[in-house]
Parts: sequence; structure tokens; C-alpha cells
Amino acid sequence: MGFLAEPPGVRIGECCFPALRDLAAVPRVCPGSGFLLACWAGDFHIRILLPVDLQLKNARIECSWRLKKILHGYRHILKQRLHSCPDLVSFMVELKTVLEIALKNTQDLHIPRPPEYYSCLVRDLEILGWNRVAYVDTGLTTVKLKAEDSCGRQHLITLKLNAKYPTEPPDCLVDFPVPFAVSWMPQNSLIDIYNQFLAALESLKEFWDALDEIDGKTWVLEPENPTRSATTRRIAIGNNVSVNVEVDPRHPNMLPECYFLGADHEVNPLRTKLNNNMHLWDPEISLLQNLRELLEIDFPSRAVLEKSDFAKDCGICYAYRLDGSAPDQVCDDPRCGQPFHQACLYEWLQGLPTSRQSFNVIFGECPYCNKPLTLKSSMKKL
Ligand SMILES: [Zn+2]
Ligand SMILES: [Zn+2]
Repeated sequence: MGFLAEPPGVRIGECCFPALRDLAAVPRVCPGSGFLLACWAGDFHIRILLPVDLQLKNARIECSWRLKKILHGYRHILKQRLHSCPDLVSFMVELKTVLEIALKNTQDLHIPRPPEYYSCLVRDLEILGWNRVAYVDTGLTTVKLKAEDSCGRQHLITLKLNAKYPTEPPDCLVDFPVPFAVSWMPQNSLIDIYNQFLAALESLKEFWDALDEIDGKTWVLEPENPTRSATTRRIAIGNNVSVNVEVDPRHPNMLPECYFLGADHEVNPLRTKLNNNMHLWDPEISLLQNLRELLEIDFPSRAVLEKSDFAKDCGICYAYRLDGSAPDQVCDDPRCGQPFHQACLYEWLQGLPTSRQSFNVIFGECPYCNKPLTLKSSMKKL
């Protein structure tokens, strides 16, 4: 674990949090679980446990039962943020925001509401139409509204109303890849938020169209069950070869960031094609069609192939998914091409007396064919 003691770019304890006055964090190495980040937010103590592969999306959050109760309704948001944040520092910023909202709402729940609060809310819901309401809690503080966009996709918006509603707007939670900020005046009603929600859905239409086409026509290896806020797709190209595309939600028709995974002899020609054909990108045709033409390939289709045809299990743990991740390392020898999970390979190489480590790279041998291989830890993702 030598290199974990000084992960590059994660020196949170010292300098990365000038803005977080009440959220102090100290990172330290935790032998069993990879990397531990402990922080204090007022009276609360939170630990973020990173797995051995240091992937933020597989991190676990531990906290006291009191804080757990406060964060209860926000678990899916935190999970979503763990998946979408590019690094630990931006996750900590998000965590602070969520924590502030959660604390505020918990305190708000105990503030008695004047009768006008209820009459106003019921009137607003009637103006909006009960057919658009998906859920109301018994305390009339949380409302979920449903909407269908012009392509028939179903969406939800969760509104958390504080005691000062309608003077203050509700907190709005949505499954969007971009922030959703509502403009609000005290004389506004829920229908105004609903209309802003509908407008935002339309502005994201092209983004979701592009991703729906990918999800429908190709084999997406990750994420397993993408949410509407997920901007990346790891698309299978062939046996142990895939491309990870990161789509810009505001410019879904532009060339996305592409990252190839697989053995060098398979991936290098694809990289070359992408670089040589980049000028052919046509914003008038769909993202998937553009990728097909630039890479001069046809992605394995759902109609004729099974996912198991190219989603091969890890050669060390014999499973496909490990903590939600698919194997992303491949032996470069064309005759072998065995895939592995990064965490499995890391552990395997560490256990071998012949392996050697330099900074964040381990040099060892493929467990199957003994060809020399190198494993870089995914520190760049942190
Ligand atoms: Zn494995
Ligand atoms: Zn091999």
C-alpha cells in the first residue's frame, strides 16, 4: 500500500478546503479498505471509505445514526454524486451542499407550519392538477410531481417545502445531468416550477435521445442501470474491447470524450481511426451513427448477440461485476487477452514476490500467460 500514503492531488487535509469552514477533512490510509477520509461537519463525523482500486463510485460512506437519519432521504443523491463527481474534492463540495440542505430540512420539519401553509399548498396542487402528482408525504412537506417529455420518457421532480413556503421556494431534486435552478417569487405557485421543469426536460431532449439510442442499440457495459443524470456509457466494441464515451449534456451532438479500454493491439487502431476521422464528425446525424462512421465499425447489436459474447469474466475472481465494475484491464498478449478487474489484478500483483512497484505503477506478469504487464493505479480519477 506504499503509494496510497501520498495519493497525488488528494491532499485534502492541508489545503483543498479553504471554502469549507465547517467541514474539515483529514485523509489517512486504511489498510482494510483502501483509503479513508474522515471529516467533521459541526457535531458530525463522516468517513468515506474508498475501495482498493480507489474508484470514487465504489466508495462507502459511514456516519453516526443521527446523521444517517438526517441523510436518509438523500442517499440516492449522494450515490449519484459519487458516480458523477470527477474527483474526491468535488464530491466533498457536493456532500457539504447536500448536508446543509438535509440539516436545514430536518430542522424545518420540526417548525410548526401556519394554517396558510397548508391552504396555500393544497390550492397550488389543485391548480397544478392532481394527475401530475406522484406522491405527497403525510406531513405535506414533500411532494413528487411526474411529467412525460415529448419523447414519452417519464420524469420525476421532488419538492421539499420548508415552513416559509410560498415566501421561499421549495428545494427541487431532479435526475438531471446538469444543475436545475428554479426562479421563484413569493406569488409563484407549484405550476411555475412545473413549467420550468418541463422546459428543462425539453432542453435535455437531444442528450437523452442520444443516450437512449446507445442504450437501445448497443451493449452498454457500464453503468449497469444508467440514471437520467448519467453522462457516460462504456460501449462494447468486441471481445474485451470497449469505448467509454462521456457525453456533454449541453452539447450532445458534439464529439464526446472517448476513452478506449482493451489490449493495445486492438485499441491502438481504433484510436488512430478516431484521430484521423475526427473532421468527419457531423452534428446533423446521431452520436452513435457518428461514432460508427469515425471508428469504421459496427457496434455489436443487441439483436444478434448476447452480452456474454463480449462481457468476459475476470480471470482472477471469475465474476463479471465486482462492486459494480466490469473488468477493465486486459492482458496485451493477443493470444491471451484475458480481462481482469483492476482491483483483482492489483491484489494479485502485490502478492507476487516477482512484482515490483514504482510510484503508482506495478510491474508484474499476467496470471495466465506470464507475459510482463504493468498496472497503473487509477489515481487520475481521484
Ligand atoms: Zn475480478
Ligand atoms: Zn496474458
